[in-house]
Amino acid sequence: MRCELCPRHCGASRTETATGGFCGLPETMQIARIAPHLWEEPPISGTKGTGAIFFSGCTLRCAYCQNAEISHRNAGRPFTPNELADAMRRLVDLGMETISFITATPFVPQILRALAIYRPPLPLVWNTSGYEDVRTLRMLEGTVDVYLPDLKHRSPAMSRLCTGREDYFEKASQAILEMVRQCGTPVYNEKNIMTRGVLIRHLILPGLTGESIQLLDWVHDECPQGTPVSLMQQYVPCNNVSIPGLTRRITRREYERVKDHMLMLDLPGFYQGPTSASEDFIPVFNQDESFV
Ligand code: SF4
Repeated sequence: MRCELCPRHCGASRTETATGGFCGLPETMQIARIAPHLWEEPPISGTKGTGAIFFSGCTLRCAYCQNAEISHRNAGRPFTPNELADAMRRLVDLGMETISFITATPFVPQILRALAIYRPPLPLVWNTSGYEDVRTLRMLEGTVDVYLPDLKHRSPAMSRLCTGREDYFEKASQAILEMVRQCGTPVYNEKNIMTRGVLIRHLILPGLTGESIQLLDWVHDECPQGTPVSLMQQYVPCNNVSIPGLTRRITRREYERVKDHMLMLDLPGFYQGPTSASEDFIPVFNQDESFV
């Protein structure tokens, strides 16, 4: 396949084994973990967890990524669509509340093949960096029930520093508006699990509360009323990040400043507690116990 799936538009010729694009992934699906995951937001994990499928690779590769083992170094194992369908059946048998596809963009065609073999009777969640191409998102229309995009950076300078791309906000904002067009305002079931909608995540970065506030303003002004935001304070300097200012955690004052702004805007959502700022929450990838 000549790959144009993400906004990098490499046009790389990805075959069963050959890579070549920025993400360095072959055409064959590669997955680093398939297991219950209890630590997503309450409408995604509920009480029993989401069946989390962590795909290898990433189209963004933030310098500070806490999952660099899979996002930068592509740890994982090959999976056929049939094998993914079987794994989704096992997650359903375990009683999951939802199924989550995490950084799955380089494998959209293969995932659609797996879902044609077996479509879990649960909300399907697309968990993404937000760096998506609208044409690729349209391939998912009618299949994905819930989008869970990050909204990371506002300024081109900061996004270039952290991801090598100046166009992060331009692409992510277009992508989120497409997600909203597809899934609309949130719908919840009797267990308060989101069955349709968009939940936007924002990770506060040290020294960058001004960007956080601009991004919350954008959500308030451009997204439908009721679109929830998950405000995350879990930033931990990972992956030997050396970008000036990003080598520490955020302070209580920084968190309160952004949280107060979100309250002032009356945006619904979730606030992550300080105990989530730990490397202990990073899952184990690509070991035998990583797969159901
Ligand atoms: S998914 Fe990978 S190969 Fe395809 S356009 Fe994006 S970075 Fe390039």
